[in-house]
Amino acid sequence: MSVSEPGRTPSWPGGATRLAGVIGHPIRHSLSPVLHNAAFAALDLDWAFVAFDVGPGQGKAAVEAMRALGIDGLSVTMPHKADAAAAVDELAPHAAQLNSVNTVVRRGTTLVGENTDGAGFINAIRLDEGFDPSGRKCVVLGAGGAARAVVLALAGAGAAQVIVVNRTPERAAVAAALAPAVARVGVEADAASADLVVNATPVGMTGDPGLPVDPVLLHSGQLVVDLVYIPAVTPLVSAARERGATAVNGLGMLIHQAALAFEHWTGLEPPLEAMSAAAVAQLTLH
Ligand code: NAP
Repeated sequence: MSVSEPGRTPSWPGGATRLAGVIGHPIRHSLSPVLHNAAFAALDLDWAFVAFDVGPGQGKAAVEAMRALGIDGLSVTMPHKADAAAAVDELAPHAAQLNSVNTVVRRGTTLVGENTDGAGFINAIRLDEGFDPSGRKCVVLGAGGAARAVVLALAGAGAAQVIVVNRTPERAAVAAALAPAVARVGVEADAASADLVVNATPVGMTGDPGLPVDPVLLHSGQLVVDLVYIPAVTPLVSAARERGATAVNGLGMLIHQAALAFEHWTGLEPPLEAMSAAAVAQLTLH
């Protein structure tokens, strides 16, 4: 971070600087410090954000340390989301339903666990893509943590159908059970009649090449969202665009879930443009 940025001087950070961070393992490539430090700088806040490499089994201790160290906000990523849910004093409704916390807020000595992944996903498709899930047929590929957050959020946003397609059908059933009124287990071919197709598997990320769905099922009129964002143009995004669909990667969800965390910690409206520009600049370096 340049010292010429607002609030960033040679004497910064100082004794009054408020601290937030992310815990995870591995964490070296996390975009969270870039996103949040850009947001703090844009609003000239005396806050700083750091990454803590916290090994497996240490998540609960790391969350509890927020109280002793006076850390005001924590983002939580793999493999600590369930441990964080067990460590906090209170769980927000979606975090409780998912048994997964990606954001911890400290209110005095009380730690509150939130999960902003699902709402971040909905904000990304609504605000960035102009797609309202209300009344729509949605297919979610995958049934892990990200998929479950998306299933719950789509149901909450009024989707007519949420069809979960996963390599391991038993896990698809667990994900669909989060929203029994609208969600069910389906098959890959369901993608052909979907308005929205979401890839919530790692298939297509750098080092894990391939397509999570046969592109012949995709077509114009659909929105295809790949939660993978490295590479920026994933094999699915590329194939979906060739088929005439609108397709985006997962950077929008990443930015919006971080923006919601920022709002929880600071009570301020997140500077989305600054966060987005910082993320894009960082990814361009790689
Ligand atoms: P996870 O909990 O490990 O779940 C992974 C899911 O993908 C499982 O359902 C798994 O199927 C399936 N899967 C894995 N490898 C597969 C393969 N080769 N073929 C078919 N299915 C496969 O992971 P997660 O946390 O949900 O994350 C999933 C993806 O979303 C990752 O790429 C992650 O980076 C991305 N993500 C992005 C954001 C964002 O903000 N953009 C946020 C969270 C996650 P089984 O159940 O059969 O094992």
